[in-house]
Amino acid sequence: MADCLFCGVDLTGRASREHLIPASLGGWLTTDLVCKECNDYFGHTVDAFADSHLLSAVRREVGLESHRRQEGKFFDPHVGGTRRGRVKDDGTIGIVEPAFWYPDGSGVFIEAETRDKALGIAKTIRERKAAEGRSMSFAEVPPAAPASVRMRMHRAEEPRDMSELFHRETAKIAVEYIALVAAPDVARLPALDPIRQFSRDGTGPDMVISTNNVPDKFWLPQTRRLFLRRLPDGTPDHVEQDQTADKLVPADGSPPDPNVVPHWTSFRHQLSLYRGQRDWFQLVLFEWLVASVPLPSGLPIPWGSADALDCLTGETSARRP
Ligand SMILES: [Zn+2]
Repeated sequence: MADCLFCGVDLTGRASREHLIPASLGGWLTTDLVCKECNDYFGHTVDAFADSHLLSAVRREVGLESHRRQEGKFFDPHVGGTRRGRVKDDGTIGIVEPAFWYPDGSGVFIEAETRDKALGIAKTIRERKAAEGRSMSFAEVPPAAPASVRMRMHRAEEPRDMSELFHRETAKIAVEYIALVAAPDVARLPALDPIRQFSRDGTGPDMVISTNNVPDKFWLPQTRRLFLRRLPDGTPDHVEQDQTADKLVPADGSPPDPNVVPHWTSFRHQLSLYRGQRDWFQLVLFEWLVASVPLPSGLPIPWGSADALDCLTGETSARRP
């Protein structure tokens, strides 16, 4: 009977359906060669990189469900600043607090998810003021252009942590992909133990080379979001980021100039095995996240194998030389 690709346990009665690329990222390739314990372990550890701010935003862009509704600060063109909002399933922003008061007390600005809700709030305020013997009048503000939404990536060590998880995930997928396109026994060869070990617990050399092609700022056209990456050195701060966002996104809500802010419009996953000066497994996620693992030489592998998924159309392809 076959043994688990990662811990070597006999799979009799312990096999499970393991996704190479996590299902939360649209992963379509699976293997039954991983025991349930290892599968659960990967699911609770390295797969967490799919919940990074970056990948959460991209998952929403391509229509993949998110574990949580995203709440954060978003630019409000009425207020001219940021306020709390929540990204809804259709990609629009729901306002967390429905009314806003100008801080200097000169007026009351009411905004709600719908006009009826705003009018309901206005009615409540008017009645309360009337009970105090004061009258208030309200003027409707013309609807704003579709809100340009600026999403911020938060401080903290996320870039480094997520990078490590991404590398371990890539190593895990490399082993599984070799089992899929070559043979399970090729994936079990001791020559692949360092890659296997690194994927399991992060120990041993990190042999994964990632070439992160994601720009520091980009535009997601479907969910209309500007993404500004917070750099690990802590700059720029929130205020600077807001000012940057104001300059990048036109006030009328139209998309930013693609020459200034790249638009992320192609979302393709690809796994491949190829030979150059060395032998490689390469993983591409959503077109812009790329990681490669150098493989030991001499493996009996169908070099040139490749599998791809277009996350927008759902179209898959497989090449087996
Ligand atoms: Zn196992």
